[in-house]
Amino acid sequence: MPIFTPGRRWQPAYSPFKQESFGSRLMENLEYTLKGPLFGCRMCGNCMLQETAFICPMECPKGLRNGPCGGSTPEHCYVDKTRPCIWYKIYERSFAMGRQEMLLEVLPPLDWEKVGTDTWKDVVSEVKKNGTGKVVKSLVLDQGEKRWKTWDLIFRSVRQPDWWQGDDQYHAPAYSEPVSNLEKAFKAGQFVVACEIAPPLSVSTKKLIENINLVKPYVTAINFTDNASATPRMTSWACSRIAVENGAEPVMQIAARDRTRASLQGEILGASAMGVRNVLAITGDSPVLAPSPRGRMDINDMDAIQMVWILRRMRDEGHYLDGREIKFPPKFFLGAAAAPFASDPKFQAIREHKKVNAGAQFFQTNLVYDIDGMEIWLNELAKRNILDKVYIMVGITPLKSAKMTRFMTQVPGVFVPEAIIKRMEAAATAGNEQAEGVQIALELIEKIKGYEKQGIHGLHIMPVGWEDIVPRLVTEAGLLPPGFIAPEPASAQAAKPA
Ligand code: SF4
Repeated sequence: MPIFTPGRRWQPAYSPFKQESFGSRLMENLEYTLKGPLFGCRMCGNCMLQETAFICPMECPKGLRNGPCGGSTPEHCYVDKTRPCIWYKIYERSFAMGRQEMLLEVLPPLDWEKVGTDTWKDVVSEVKKNGTGKVVKSLVLDQGEKRWKTWDLIFRSVRQPDWWQGDDQYHAPAYSEPVSNLEKAFKAGQFVVACEIAPPLSVSTKKLIENINLVKPYVTAINFTDNASATPRMTSWACSRIAVENGAEPVMQIAARDRTRASLQGEILGASAMGVRNVLAITGDSPVLAPSPRGRMDINDMDAIQMVWILRRMRDEGHYLDGREIKFPPKFFLGAAAAPFASDPKFQAIREHKKVNAGAQFFQTNLVYDIDGMEIWLNELAKRNILDKVYIMVGITPLKSAKMTRFMTQVPGVFVPEAIIKRMEAAATAGNEQAEGVQIALELIEKIKGYEKQGIHGLHIMPVGWEDIVPRLVTEAGLLPPGFIAPEPASAQAAKPA
């Protein structure tokens, strides 16, 4: 148990990838011997303890470096319920120390060249570069801001390499004309509806195309999940391409869990070339939710915030992460997930703020069943002045049964109020669960629409296989898109000559 770090260590210390001199190994062991017990150091070689209230985040099972995932709770990590969420503890201590704004700096993914090696040599070389005497004098004699600047000069260069240069500033998109219909609808001030279609479990696209054609007239865009619950299905980009071919507008979800930085950049170029114009970058569920045998659970090459940072720079600055120029950069409207009910609303607000700064232009939230809770979260975003920089779509899943409602209470980052559970249980006894589920969804949508002036710009329906319900929900909620043309009934279509 580390002295100052809450929780047990989950990940083993990293080992260097190359052969090293005796001196280097000695320094590494010395650093680990000291920083391990003190800060829970995992020897990632890319130290950022300054920014994380001196708790090493690398014991997070997902290896996240920019804040908690959507499954974080005050009680425990959702991947390993026997230990606390290390990011929750970092946020808690940062607030206690008044260092919470430091959490806004977008931190880089690991440079695996440095993994397992000591950070001290980098600190020493920064001190030398800036003049050892000057640095020591400032640290000993200066006070307040001046002393802090010297300190930050040294450690900022250590944690922010040239190829990353993350900061805590807002980066507006470097274009003005909307690149997708979704972006156009938001800019036109519409209350926009998107819905999700689960990709097929086989190569047959018949049902997928039927579902696309079913929901297409009712929504502005259709999301395709990316191996949700870490369970393989047809890829999101293939479904997105099929949507484009069928005249619908896709939102391609892309999960950090199944990507390296190389595959992310390659896939985004491919998707853009195939006409995909909306991308939603997410960290992705842990394989702990997947069926056995489980995949690697201890590290992601990047997190969602790093993905957003990389993608925005590819689009707006026209270069790869390694600095190579992209002659014809990709075009896309860039989104991220938001979690109103994970960790604590004021912690989540920092995380959402960071995503907006990194480049997220729209949010699709996790499921909302508690409007009061959503309002608390929204107020925290308002305090951070980010509501005019991002379009927010609230996630809704109509409940089909009392069993499904109970299951939802177990989903990380989802909160179902007792009153809804009771209504669904009563409906199960009365034999009208689906009707009650639809009624609850319509009541929630009505309340959500009331927040249009407070920063909510639309709805994201996640029907979890109940795609047939989307037309009814959109129609009865009074959210049909402008220029809506009712599709011909199936019987009329069947009667047409071939
Ligand atoms: S809940 Fe998420 S962020 Fe927190 S330690 Fe677990 S995996 Fe990491």
